[in-house]
Amino acid sequence: MPDIRKWNYQKGAYEPYIPPVGHISLYEPVMETPIVCASCGKQITFGEGYTSFAIHNCSGFGYSVCESCHSAELDEEERYYSAAWR
Ligand SMILES: [Zn+2]
Repeated sequence: MPDIRKWNYQKGAYEPYIPPVGHISLYEPVMETPIVCASCGKQITFGEGYTSFAIHNCSGFGYSVCESCHSAELDEEERYYSAAWR
């Protein structure tokens, strides 16, 4: 089991994270490689995924997530950081 953690926006801290079953991915050389979204477990290809803002390995690299999880993460970012960013 790789060391995976998820950023908790409310706490402003990482928490241990148990990913969905399947091949979650940090990077694939082939865009068509089937993977599962690291957040919801949906089947996608690596090329369809977005780098997660929240689900990271121990070095801070983001796992690939699907489009709807990506937009949910964007909403979270807005909600917690918009005051600092604007
Ligand atoms: Zn997803």
